[in-house]
Amino acid sequence: MDCIFCKIINGEIPCTKVYEDENVLAFKDINPVAPVHILIIPKTHVESAYMVDTTSNILNKIFEAIKIIANEQGLQENGFRIVTNIGESAGQTVKHLHFHLLGGRDFNWPPG
Ligand code: AMP
Ligand code: ZN
Repeated sequence: MDCIFCKIINGEIPCTKVYEDENVLAFKDINPVAPVHILIIPKTHVESAYMVDTTSNILNKIFEAIKIIANEQGLQENGFRIVTNIGESAGQTVKHLHFHLLGGRDFNWPPG
């Protein structure tokens, strides 16, 4: 499948890995918009959060990883942002489910 995140998972495309377990991979975003900008993805291809099999426990596993990474990055005290874009209007450019973990600065709300 022509999916850049699947290629990162199988090692065809390099990444700066920050966390990995059996089900989840996390790596630095190539175009960071915050001092900490990490992408957390399932190792099995799913197009978006909308397409997740909610009878699976993949979202639990992803959020377990997010908690571990946030602690490692020292973000638990000041807070951080988790974003997942779904589809064109939201600006999803890579059609493999990913959560942006953003931290190390303040963020505006509502988002633009
Ligand atoms: P989205 O716009 O929500 O689909 O986010 C896709 C993200 O993937 C963007 O923030 C890109 O900078 C990031 N990205 C694209 N290609 C790579 C790559 N090869 N390694 C790391 N991050 C990437
Ligand atoms: Zn994929």
